Amino acid sequence: MAGRMTVFSVLVFVSIILAGCATTGPGGKQSLILIGSATEVSIGESMDQEIRAKNQILQDSSWQGYMDEISGRIVSRCDRRDIEYHFAIIKSDQVNAFATPGGYVYLYTGLLKTMDNEAELAAVMAHEISHVVARHGIKRLQAAMGVALLQELLLGESPEALNTVVNVGLGLTFAEYSRENEREADTYGMQYMMAAGYHPDAAITMFEKLASMSDGSPGFFERLSMSHPQTQERIANAKALIASLKPLPPGLELKTTRYQLMKSRLPQ
Ligand SMILES: [Zn+2]
Repeated sequence: MAGRMTVFSVLVFVSIILAGCATTGPGGKQSLILIGSATEVSIGESMDQEIRAKNQILQDSSWQGYMDEISGRIVSRCDRRDIEYHFAIIKSDQVNAFATPGGYVYLYTGLLKTMDNEAELAAVMAHEISHVVARHGIKRLQAAMGVALLQELLLGESPEALNTVVNVGLGLTFAEYSRENEREADTYGMQYMMAAGYHPDAAITMFEKLASMSDGSPGFFERLSMSHPQTQERIANAKALIASLKPLPPGLELKTTRYQLMKSRLPQ
């Protein structure tokens, strides 16, 4: 009986895997994702509760409305709209931003204060949205989980499995993404921000700002150690992408005045 159950659960597991495989990433890329969107969203929701409990979230309806408007425009142009995206601001001097699986994105006030226009904000948002679109976070989590935990999660047999997965996910929040993942998020992010009406030059000014602040020390933007060659490579790639897209569509904006007004509302 026990043997039959094992065969049965393996069959269920395999069929879940087959159902979950064909997933479309940015630009229509296929990749092997075992965790479906509904489970990914549950993981993101639980992680969000923990993140909100452990950090001070900025409560400002003007900022919330402002972020929702900009992100809504970017999301409507992105390659993944089967989930809802959520944006929150963490009150902290850290110059940082990150996304969790399931579409939860967090920006630190320290990062918002380094920005000079709305297009720079759109660049960071579009970069983080791209990590979610390409499912980089859930892939990283899936890889860290181990087969037994993954099987428990997919079969939904153990109520503790989700908790364990959420804790593993929280531990990975500031882990680095691979360079390939970063390159992908940069490339798609710039295209999404442009499609939303923002000038992609703002992505470059944002990178340059982060590079000049880093002094070679890790600690911002997903705790990415923006080491000099890596940052220079990202800037060069971004410039090459903009050059390849020229002539850019007319009317792309930076929206400096509107951003400065919002920036003045941030707590000191
Ligand atoms: Zn990134």
